[in-house]
Amino acid sequence: MARYRGAVCKLCRREDQKLFLKGDRCFSDKCGFERRNYPPGQHGQRRGKFSDYGNQLREKQKVKRMYGLLERQFRKCFRTAERKSGITGENFLILLERRLDNIVFRLGFAYSRNQGRQLVSHNHVLVNGKRVNIPSYIVKAGDVVEISEKSQKMPLIKEAVEAVERLGVPSWLELDKENYRGKVIAFPERKDLTMPVQEQLIVELYSR
Ligand code: SF4
Repeated sequence: MARYRGAVCKLCRREDQKLFLKGDRCFSDKCGFERRNYPPGQHGQRRGKFSDYGNQLREKQKVKRMYGLLERQFRKCFRTAERKSGITGENFLILLERRLDNIVFRLGFAYSRNQGRQLVSHNHVLVNGKRVNIPSYIVKAGDVVEISEKSQKMPLIKEAVEAVERLGVPSWLELDKENYRGKVIAFPERKDLTMPVQEQLIVELYSR
């Protein structure tokens, strides 16, 4: 599956905020954004004002990068959200949160969404007892997501689970740390999503 392969810290610098894409490193003084708090590139230190379109574009890029998606996948998810009843922007964020790679990250089985995606596509994750290797799989309320028995011994997963308190598990998920198992108690609501996102700007951009 296609994914971004460039320098990751550049993305945070471009969006002018920490997107927490690198797990542990994001909390250390090695964080690229902490060290160089200005956009990358030759003219990066000359930060200008954005037009309305520029603001909408930056917001879209920020969320897209946060969830580690490419444009096509991102837009497809937006179109699905648009077809649902309710507020499109909120539907969209909630749909992104319900992706399996995000759930694996939120439950603390992976340090980042990218790592979560890798665990899913490498067959380490089960949903309701069945192996699922599609990172974009949308979970439902009541679904049980777990790490397969064999994969529970992987140091990468063990370390991530041990460090789960650092980010905490959202209230709409329940973690059974001992058994590497989590349950989706309910769909997240907008108030549960605490990252600074103005989803309305993305709706405006895609409605142009
Ligand atoms: Fe962003 Fe993490 Fe890199 Fe810091 S270390 S710039 S938060 S990806």
